[in-house]
Amino acid sequence: MVARAARAADLADLDGAVSDCFACPRLVGWREEVARTKRAAFRDQEYWGRPVPGLGTPDARIGILGLAPAAHGGNRTGRIFTGDRSGDVLFAALHRAGLANQPTSVAADDGLALRDTRIFAAVRCAPPDNKPTPAERDTCAPWLHREVALIRPTLRVVVALGAFAWAAWWPVLREVYGVRPPSPRPAFGHGAHWSGTTAPALLGCYHVSQQNTFTGRLTPGMLDDVFARARQLAGVD
Ligand code: SF4
Repeated sequence: MVARAARAADLADLDGAVSDCFACPRLVGWREEVARTKRAAFRDQEYWGRPVPGLGTPDARIGILGLAPAAHGGNRTGRIFTGDRSGDVLFAALHRAGLANQPTSVAADDGLALRDTRIFAAVRCAPPDNKPTPAERDTCAPWLHREVALIRPTLRVVVALGAFAWAAWWPVLREVYGVRPPSPRPAFGHGAHWSGTTAPALLGCYHVSQQNTFTGRLTPGMLDDVFARARQLAGVD
C-alpha cells in the first residue's frame, strides 16, 4: 500500500488507487456493512462503501484536512463531506469565502467545483463512531503524504478540522517536506496557527461536526474568520 501510494503519478492516479485500498480490516468491514445495511432514508441508493479520495484542484493553495468520511455521507456518495450535515456547513462556508462555486454538496455529480482548494482526510474510510484507531491513522498516512506531495508546489496553508487532523499533520512535515516537526507539538485550538519556513502554515479549526455546529461551539462567523485567514496566508485574491 505504501508503495502504491508513492507510485501515484498524479492526483487522478492517487484517487483511483486509494479507492481500491483494503489495508484496514476493521474499516473495510465497517464501510461495507454500512453500505449493505444503509440508513432508511437512503435505502434506495447504492452506497459507495469504499475509501473516499480527496476533492479539489491540483494547484490548490489551501488544503483542508478532515478526520475521516461519514458512514452515510462520503461513504454513501463517494465524495468527501458530501451528503451530510458536516458538509452542508463546510461547503456553505467555502462558498461564502469564494472557494466553492456552490454552497451545497449533495452528490458526486452535482456540479460542485472548488477554487484554490483541496480537501482530504487523515483516514480515508468511514470508521465506527467516527473514531479511527491510531494504528488505522498510521496505516492510512501514506495516502495523505502522497496527496500533499503532489500539491506541494502550490500548497501554502492547511486548515486542520479538529484535533485528530491537527495531530495527523505533523508526520507530513518529515515525510513530505523533510523537516523535523516542532517539539513540543503546538496544541490544537480553534484559531491556533503554526508557521514553518518551508512547509505550509497550519490553522486549527473546530471540526464541522453536528456536535460542534448544533451546539454553537462552531458558528458560521468563526468559519468565515478561519477561511479569510487561510486566504490571506495563501495569497488567494
Ligand atoms: S483507512 Fe486508509 S489505509 Fe485503511 S483501508 Fe481505508 S484507505 Fe486503506
